[in-house]
Amino acid sequence: MLSTLLTPKPIFHSPFSPSIISSRQSSMEDQPQTPKPRIIVCGGGVIGVCTAFFLAKKGATVTLIEKSSIACAASGKAGGFLALDWCDDGPLSKLARASFSLHRSLAADLNGVESYGYRAMNTLSLSMTEGDSGSASSTTLQAVPSWVNGPVKSPKTIGTMETTAQVHPQLFTKALLAWADKKHGLEVVISELDSVVVEGGRAKGVVLKDQGGGRVIEGEAVVLALGPWSARLPLLSSLFRVSGLKAHSIVLVPKDPSVITPHALFLSYYPAQGSKPMDPEVYPRPSGEVYVCGMSADAEVPDDPEQVMGDLNSIRVLKRVAATVSSHLKEGEAHVKAEQACFLPCTDDNIPVIGELPNVKGCYVATGHSCWGILNGPATGAAVAELVLDGNASIVDLAPFSPARFRQIVKYEGPLMIRNVKYERRSNRYAIKIVEMGGSVYVHPSFRCYSTLHLEIIVKNL
Ligand SMILES: Cc1cc2nc3c(=O)[nH]c(=O)nc-3n(C[C@H](O)[C@H](O)[C@H](O)COP(=O)(O)OP(=O)(O)OC[C@H]3O[C@@H](n4cnc5c(N)ncnc54)[C@H](O)[C@@H]3O)c2cc1C
Repeated sequence: MLSTLLTPKPIFHSPFSPSIISSRQSSMEDQPQTPKPRIIVCGGGVIGVCTAFFLAKKGATVTLIEKSSIACAASGKAGGFLALDWCDDGPLSKLARASFSLHRSLAADLNGVESYGYRAMNTLSLSMTEGDSGSASSTTLQAVPSWVNGPVKSPKTIGTMETTAQVHPQLFTKALLAWADKKHGLEVVISELDSVVVEGGRAKGVVLKDQGGGRVIEGEAVVLALGPWSARLPLLSSLFRVSGLKAHSIVLVPKDPSVITPHALFLSYYPAQGSKPMDPEVYPRPSGEVYVCGMSADAEVPDDPEQVMGDLNSIRVLKRVAATVSSHLKEGEAHVKAEQACFLPCTDDNIPVIGELPNVKGCYVATGHSCWGILNGPATGAAVAELVLDGNASIVDLAPFSPARFRQIVKYEGPLMIRNVKYERRSNRYAIKIVEMGGSVYVHPSFRCYSTLHLEIIVKNL
């Protein structure tokens, strides 16, 4: 059913395929130069920057539009944890494996060990109850590094130096941008995207909200990588929803960082005996810092990414988690370098949206990476660059991520004169409740979507 919607439509096939680029370079003196395609990438988070990086590497002229500053949001405040096989058996498996491997080769090419703290690490899961005074058994103590000296229970190795690794996400994002600029030249414009210019069903450029408003930048294609702000653009919100899940983190600098070993910790943390567990994560970094994150909740995404503030109570809880995990992370033993919050970009079906918009040629989207954006940035960027310049992505099959998946199964042509239909049965698998009425409505075979007029349709799996 998807095949016709998903057939890639090349827009720059022959002139910019890698083989032609190299032959063009070797005979540059005797042939007129073909102009490079100008591609506009909007959003300076890890997804936008990885896309800009691979586009520039493949020969495009790239303009990156960022509203605030590079990696100012989740891409600067994330943990930076990478896993080879934790997404196996799901739609993200190939994207994650390709990305894990790209992270390794990028680190080799960009001196990532020195420049952005890339390193392989071991990963443990363990359980801990705050205030538990019982001492851990000697077998338990042997299984955890000595700095993890809190009331540990049930430690288990869940990742090895071959399967888990880390980067400092902000340094990684900035290093990629700096490298792309140095090697290929790349323009960064600090301004807010207002809208995409669409003429005859094709993207022709973008309009920025510069001081006076209305500045237009023209380009052959536009890539939208706006993270949780994607929903602010009617062009995207008319097709699918992206919501923000707020999560908190702190960065601690222990007095003696030399005791902290490269072990990531995934906790089942009980704030009190018999309470519900929380699932904070602890990532020591090669710089000696220790990053602790958790405490997530649905919250309104503010307009300004720099205005995302942490809640005092959530930060307090994370400090207690750190102090329970290790005496080296207690107040007085560690300096608090950062207390922060940021938003995971989430889609309704928990799968990223990557591909050309079904209704606008030359306009691409890459968002909804939820808790795996740092991991999946490289293969997303490489695949989008291939899709834009070659017409299809070879590094990973983008079909499962297509934005076209949000407009299939049932199409209502409006205006609809139906009000408050209760769970009308449409097929063997779905029931639909029409909450409002009007316009054209596209129904996604998941739980919820929006029509082009923002009318809410709820689709229930029977
Ligand atoms: C606490 C926490 C820990 C995490 N840990 C990990 C981890 O360990 N490993 C992992 O793989 N992932 C992790 N993630 C997930 C990861 O951070 C995200 O998936 C990823 O950063 C999303 O990147 P993005 O580029 O899509 O969005 P963002 O980083 O949000 O970037 C979007 C950018 O778009 C810009 N923008 C918005 N609107 C406009 C506009 N109109 N015009 C121009 N620019 C605009 C914003 O200013 C922002 O810079 C974590 C996330 C959180 C919250």
